[in-house]
Amino acid sequence: MKKNIVDLQEKLQALLLTQQDNFLQGAVADYIPALASVKPDLVGISVATIDGNVVGAGDYQRPFSIQSISKVFGLVMAMNRVGDSLWQRVRMEPSGQPFNSIIQLEWEKGIPRNPVINAGALLVSDVLASHFSSSKLAFLTFIRKLAGNDTIRVDNQVYQSELTHGNRNAALAYLMKSFDNIEAEIPDVLSHYFTQCAISMSCQQLATSLLFLANKGIDPRTKNNICTARDAHRVNAILSTSGMYDQSGEFAFSVGLPAKSGVGGGVIAIVPGYGVICAWSPPLNKFGNSVVGMNLVSDIAEELGLSIYH
Ligand code: GLN
Repeated sequence: MKKNIVDLQEKLQALLLTQQDNFLQGAVADYIPALASVKPDLVGISVATIDGNVVGAGDYQRPFSIQSISKVFGLVMAMNRVGDSLWQRVRMEPSGQPFNSIIQLEWEKGIPRNPVINAGALLVSDVLASHFSSSKLAFLTFIRKLAGNDTIRVDNQVYQSELTHGNRNAALAYLMKSFDNIEAEIPDVLSHYFTQCAISMSCQQLATSLLFLANKGIDPRTKNNICTARDAHRVNAILSTSGMYDQSGEFAFSVGLPAKSGVGGGVIAIVPGYGVICAWSPPLNKFGNSVVGMNLVSDIAEELGLSIYH
């Protein structure tokens, strides 16, 4: 390994040590009962670069529930499938509301503020469920190809748990259907959405599979075009303004990277022209973002000077 990569690995290792006492600042998500049993002190971080290096520390190879990080993959698939017509059904504005809020959706006539809050991701799930003969399989195939790993799977326990406790997501989907903004049957939309949220991946797999967003839509390893450069730009813009929910402004202010969190405790951050950071720690703050995950991404971004606003 080259010296700067060894240095980076050591930096990640050292960063983990600085977070040892911070797990107690948050709480593991328990509104999805299957997530409540995850050990709160698991922690990992991985950095993948577009020039082919992958490093990590802690539990960075251990799969966890990707939850809302799946919204990034779903959005790319939907953009590829239906093009600009998507933006007639979902907007690209921050919501200023919690990720699962329903209140704005009625005022705004069933058009979600953006594709990475739950309402928007359910809309995207509808696009996928209506345009693929088997959208769940298509989704899994897409992720496996990006990660270069055929063993990535859906955690059925998490899936069942979300299905049984998914009344709020069902309410969001039915409300959009009442405004004619959902085409498929609601159970199919929910089943797709809960399936993609219940996929398990490690920090390393997430970091490598999202490299195309740091490289104008091209997977640097295979040279495959995963999406257009324009769409990579658009996804990164949405992640910058909405990816950390109602903490997106603060994250832009203090870190300055397109990012996405999930209630499984994962945080991914795209560094255009450089690579992808993924950190994982299950305890969440009141916004549903991983406390330690955000600290880790923030610290490494600061240390390496990665903000896109410099
Ligand atoms: N599956 C979760 C939900 O719908 C995803 C939320 C998240 O990760 N922020 O509530």
